[in-house]
Amino acid sequence: MIDFSLTPEQEAIQKMAREFAQKEIAPVADEYDRSGEYPEAVVRKAFEAELVYGSIPEEYGGGGVGALDQLIAVEELSAACAGISACIAINSLAAIPLVLRGSEEQKKKYLGTICREEKKMALCVTEPEAGSDVASITTSARKLNGEYVISGSKCFITNGGVADYYIVFASVDRSKGHRGITAFIVPREAEGVSVGKREDKMGQRAADTTDVSFDEVKVPLAARIGEEGEGFRIIMQTFNHSRPGVAASAVGVARAALDHALNYSLQRSQFGIPIFMQQSIMFMLADMARDITAGRLLAWKAGWMAEQGIDNSAEAAMAKVFCGDMVMRATTDAVQVYGGYGYVKDYPVEKLMRDAKVFQIYEGTSQVQRLLIGRALAKAKMS
Ligand SMILES: Cc1cc2nc3c(=O)[nH]c(=O)nc-3n(C[C@H](O)[C@H](O)[C@H](O)COP(=O)(O)OP(=O)(O)OC[C@H]3O[C@@H](n4cnc5c(N)ncnc54)[C@H](O)[C@@H]3O)c2cc1C
Repeated sequence: MIDFSLTPEQEAIQKMAREFAQKEIAPVADEYDRSGEYPEAVVRKAFEAELVYGSIPEEYGGGGVGALDQLIAVEELSAACAGISACIAINSLAAIPLVLRGSEEQKKKYLGTICREEKKMALCVTEPEAGSDVASITTSARKLNGEYVISGSKCFITNGGVADYYIVFASVDRSKGHRGITAFIVPREAEGVSVGKREDKMGQRAADTTDVSFDEVKVPLAARIGEEGEGFRIIMQTFNHSRPGVAASAVGVARAALDHALNYSLQRSQFGIPIFMQQSIMFMLADMARDITAGRLLAWKAGWMAEQGIDNSAEAAMAKVFCGDMVMRATTDAVQVYGGYGYVKDYPVEKLMRDAKVFQIYEGTSQVQRLLIGRALAKAKMS
């Protein structure tokens, strides 16, 4: 059965997230974009509204909402500000390795704590010399006296400067390549953890993006998530769950771009008629509406598959690359619809275009998503 309608619960989540976005995010979005400060007050309100850990199972203190419900909420938050939305969404995203592969004790301890005490999380994969090539990370974890000792530096970490817990990927044996990568949970307060440079970004400026270093950080054996060498698989599974959400966030930004551009095109007249009546403008808007609808469906399908436990690696990559490229096109076209006014900060679409760019970069670049889709095609052909 294929049913595209939202359930009453999903409609309620959408309404709640939309109202939160309009009341708490939209009025301060420009201010945080300008200052580049972390929106602590908004994130606190998001915790109160149960928007932060909505997707964590109820038995561990989360909201217990499904993956699709989460996408619906993320689209609403991102339509108001992708940067602030990222500050909210990164927490449950970073918790995915624990949800997927944490032991019962780890889930009770860590998921219970982050939900109950409203703690923040970050996911530490990327390193200065290991971006797309995740398998080449050099952060190490060696066993010593019944503990792991973690050393290495991560970069571009969302929530890096504000997180209470880091999910860190390190190699227990570099000679094993990706089979040596292992996941750990590391508290911010652990000795040897330090936060470095905060990036001054083009867009999504409210999000806190920093270097994080681990200098001989000792964690107990119980801080390891899954088995030794399982980390690469955990990263890939995490991306399969997170990419539909990133795609939904891009849909939210594109929707905002269309909304602004449509309003403007109906109000702005040149040559005696609203510019909307010029076919070149109307077709741009029509293409935006078409692509937003297609992107949303791809995101929903990939999210639904994740929720059902179906392998969605190709679909998650399709949703991510389509929506990443789509939001860049939509926001660029929105600037075009505004003409010169689109290029200045007094009007909203300039920010949307800056916010859009990173959707083609983080959570795996658009090129890497195409590689994943290509490999899935070949695998399906050969099996
Ligand atoms: C705002 C922001 C937030 C981020 N948040 C996080 C976070 O929370 N946690 C985290 O771990 N990381 C995070 N990242 C890092 C992000 O995931 C990486 O930037 C991304 O994976 C790309 O890695 P790179 O920047 O090293 O680029 P590179 O891997 O050096 O790529 C450079 C270019 O080469 C292309 N390229 C590389 N390899 C191939 C290939 N095999 N085939 C074709 N093209 C290729 C890429 O597509 C890209 O265009 C964040 C990044 C940004 C900008």
